[in-house]
Amino acid sequence: MKKIVFATNNKNKLRELREIMSGLYEVLSLDDIGCHEEIVEDADTIEGNAKIKADFVTNKYHVDCFADDTGLEVEALGGAPGVYSARYAGEYCSYQDNVNKMLNAMKGQTNRKAAFRTCIALNLDGKSYCFEGRCDGQILETQRGTDGFGYDPIFLPDGFDQSFAEMSHEAKNAISHRGRATRKLIEFLKDQK
Ligand code: IMP
Repeated sequence: MKKIVFATNNKNKLRELREIMSGLYEVLSLDDIGCHEEIVEDADTIEGNAKIKADFVTNKYHVDCFADDTGLEVEALGGAPGVYSARYAGEYCSYQDNVNKMLNAMKGQTNRKAAFRTCIALNLDGKSYCFEGRCDGQILETQRGTDGFGYDPIFLPDGFDQSFAEMSHEAKNAISHRGRATRKLIEFLKDQK
């Protein structure tokens, strides 16, 4: 099977991507290729941060690589936290810290519209590509569900009555921002063969 590097060590994302790409590609992590440097993601867009990660790995290790970056954009907060979603509650904050800060920021707010956006930057055979996926929904008033990660317990995708943290992995992958971006990536990769 062909190999491709996914520029992450996030176990949740690797699991999701390996499920989605199973049978097509063997997905290697940064650990798998011995890349232990910290990659500084200092772009001010999710597209820019995804490209920084993919380019770092391709330039240093000379491998085909893709990298993703995700932001949660909340309408009532002017699109925040967006590209800063991971560090919303501070540099070394936990997922729960971010969830708490979001619940506080949205207290009493009636417009609860939000969207997850994922960009995947791909470097393949010397060329660069970008794929985007989006999932619209609402920020819940309290946490629901224990599965998933990040903001999953407070995100209710439009058209569903389960939060991302209450859904099975398959159900989330079918509609999620990352699932959508990844399917675009896979369709593209299939056409290359
Ligand atoms: P990253 O840039 O993809 O690592 O994601 C930025 C932030 O968004 C992190 O705090 C993640 O927890 C959060 N995030 C990314 N994807 C998801 C998801 O599918 N569900 C909930 N939170 C997510």
